[in-house]
This record gives sequence, C-alpha cells and structure tokens, in this order.
Amino acid sequence: MADRISKELCSYVMSCVRSRNTKPEIAVRSLLHRMGYRFRLSSGRGLPGKPNIVLPKHKAVIFVHGCFWHAHKCRSASELIPKTRRRFWVNKFITNVTRDELAVAALEDAGWRVCIIWECELKNLVTVTQKLNVFVRGRFMSARDSFRTTRINRIANKMFKKGN
Ligand SMILES: [Zn+2]
Repeated sequence: MADRISKELCSYVMSCVRSRNTKPEIAVRSLLHRMGYRFRLSSGRGLPGKPNIVLPKHKAVIFVHGCFWHAHKCRSASELIPKTRRRFWVNKFITNVTRDELAVAALEDAGWRVCIIWECELKNLVTVTQKLNVFVRGRFMSARDSFRTTRINRIANKMFKKGN
C-alpha cells in the first residue's frame, strides 16, 4: 500500500514537473478518445522528447505544445520575449525549439510519425479533429517541416546580428 501511495505521489509530482496532464493535453486526449482511437497513457517516457500521447497501433506520437514555451509562430516577438533579460529568454526559446526539433528528428528516424498540436489550435476543435484524423490515418506530412520557419529563428538571427 505504501508503495502504491508513493508511486501515485511520485507520478503526481512528475506530472507537475513535466507539465503533463495540462488542459491542452487532456483536451487532445479526450478528442482522440471520442474519435475512437486508443492510446497509451505515459508511454511516451521512453521515447525521444517524451511525446504526450502514443498510438502504438498507428506507430504515431503526438506532442501537445504550449505556444509560449515552445515559441510557436502564433506569438509575436513582443508577446514572446519579455522586456528584460532578452538574451536569456531568446536563448531559452532556442534551446526549447532545438530540443523539439531533435526529438522529432529522432522519432521520425526511428519510424514514428509525429504530430504537433499547438495550444492555440485548440480554439478550433473542428480543425484539430480533422488534423488528428488525417494524421492518425497516415496522410500527414513530416512534422520536421513545421520547424523550418519558426519565428524564433528569425528573431534570434536579427537580434544576434545586432549584438543586442
Ligand atoms: Zn500557437
């Protein structure tokens, strides 16, 4: 019993640390569930980047990304980067985005199909449902491409050129 409690406590703490079970993640899970797809909870831990949702049967993984921490292009530079400690924040975002890119590359190299659902996309559940359907059925283009034009790269280039 003690073992079970500590396990539960541990997974609760970990869920906070890794920001798992966030509202957007729960929303995507319940959408998938309603669409009839079955997935494993927490099975992404052994995979690169720890995907939020794994659909083993479809060899597919899904990341649910918060737009701020993952520097989504929906955020303008001024929304993304606080006025103070700008260099720190730009470095932070570059680290996060690079980590995301590497995880996607490693997963795709290992034969997984990768989908990223952005927090802002969840404002339109119909579109997200369509995106998930297309993805799980296997007609989705590489998630790697979605990183190519991330706004943070452009901001960083500009900023470091200026020596700001
Ligand atoms: Zn966004």
